[in-house]
Amino acid sequence: MPLAREAVELLVQAARAWYFEGNQHGLRDREWMALRFLGRANRFSRTPSALAGFIGATRATASQIVKTLESKSFLVRKPSPEDKRSVLLNVTAQGEKCLSQHDPVNHVVNAVTALGTEECIRLRDSLRDILNHLDAAHQRLDASICRDCMFLAERSPSTSKGRATAEFMCRLYRAPVSLQETELLCTSFERTRDRPKIEEHLDRARVASQG
Ligand code: SF4
Repeated sequence: MPLAREAVELLVQAARAWYFEGNQHGLRDREWMALRFLGRANRFSRTPSALAGFIGATRATASQIVKTLESKSFLVRKPSPEDKRSVLLNVTAQGEKCLSQHDPVNHVVNAVTALGTEECIRLRDSLRDILNHLDAAHQRLDASICRDCMFLAERSPSTSKGRATAEFMCRLYRAPVSLQETELLCTSFERTRDRPKIEEHLDRARVASQG
């Protein structure tokens, strides 16, 4: 069997590892998907419309899922500080606890973590290269990590009244983005072909802390 085909078959098997029928710990597959996304999404993407786009559902279905998660106290709606007409869907401490203890993808994350930091970085980079090689028409890329986005621009570090200001700017939303926020998911993401500089810096720190 050609090596590439064998690798793709293993990739498909790995992706199937977190599928399940019915529900797990009281949530169905799409409800887990929504909670997981909202737990990792940035402030531009924790909205009902971004959630509907990410899970591939209508606004009505997404709204029903939000109600289910609210009824379990995993989610609260808050007015957006940037646009009072919009709401933000924020995962509660109880929702975060549920994700860390019971998310069906956790056992896959644990298996990948067991590879070690350097192997994890190689796996991540290989998967990203695969996505870059795929025709955009065949990708169903709904969200990705801000630090890989072509709209992210570095801002020279400065302080205002003794407080550190944001290190980055989003050129799409014309809004500041902190270093921590560059690790979050965004549904307006556009992939850059160049390897982000922040990532090299973070990777070096990760490998160093491993040793
Ligand atoms: S830089 Fe890209 S990923 Fe980050 S907030 Fe802006 S659009 Fe979203």
